[in-house]
Amino acid sequence: MSTQQTDENVDAAEVAKFEALATRWWDANSEFKPLHDFNPLRANWIDKHSPVAEKTLLDVGCGGGILSESMAHRGALVSGIDMGATPLEIARLHAIESGLDIDYQLSTAEKLAENRSANNAPGFDIVTCLEMLEHVPDPGSVINACANLVKPGGDLYFSTINRNPKSFLFAIVGAEYLLNLLPKGTHSYANLIRPSELSSWIRAAGLQVNHMTGLVYNPLSKKYRLHASDVSVNYMIHATKPHLTESETDS
Ligand code: SAH
Repeated sequence: MSTQQTDENVDAAEVAKFEALATRWWDANSEFKPLHDFNPLRANWIDKHSPVAEKTLLDVGCGGGILSESMAHRGALVSGIDMGATPLEIARLHAIESGLDIDYQLSTAEKLAENRSANNAPGFDIVTCLEMLEHVPDPGSVINACANLVKPGGDLYFSTINRNPKSFLFAIVGAEYLLNLLPKGTHSYANLIRPSELSSWIRAAGLQVNHMTGLVYNPLSKKYRLHASDVSVNYMIHATKPHLTESETDS
């Protein structure tokens, strides 16, 4: 798979894959079926750890807005960013159809963090970045930007796919070649991320890892479920940004 890295932390070939599929984003039987299937699980998990009603929430790599909308339905004040223009168009149209007010913008997390800090904009209460890190050249840089975008004491959620023989079999061979759930080439094995790697980037960004959960697919029932310890394929991490210390608050 060719990689076209731009000046920004964006792999243009990766974004192009999502542009090409974007019109089917809200078709729950399309290539986006897995996102639709596990969305209620991840939305509930997020809402359980940090109730989202009335909170400002930034969804990084929001795509067509599946998670953004479910957060807005729960009362969050949602902003979504993505580097795909077509997914964002789909997201904007769908939000209108759903009667939701969501602020969708074309931006990387890094650019938004830079702009907001230049304008002294307040941090978001919650930042989510789901199923996106495995599509960028430098995931650690996105995590740093997310850490800058969330307020002290705020919550962050990251999800991705583990890298091991089982995830290769389930997430690539099974999903892309046997079951045709995803187009071939959706995920490249080398870009998958082990929980230890994700955790160390999170800690390097000055955040704390709080909870981790697996999202386990049962090929017989064709259903996903949360599993606290089985993070062998899909998984999510809940992190928090520490509160300011007294001396930081004073300065
Ligand atoms: N988070 C959504 C969509 C996941 S698909 C969900 O889980 O439902 C991955 C998304 O990341 C795509 O929409 C793609 O365009 C976007 N993306 C890839 N690289 C990006 C980057 N560097 N900055 C912002 N978005 C990016």
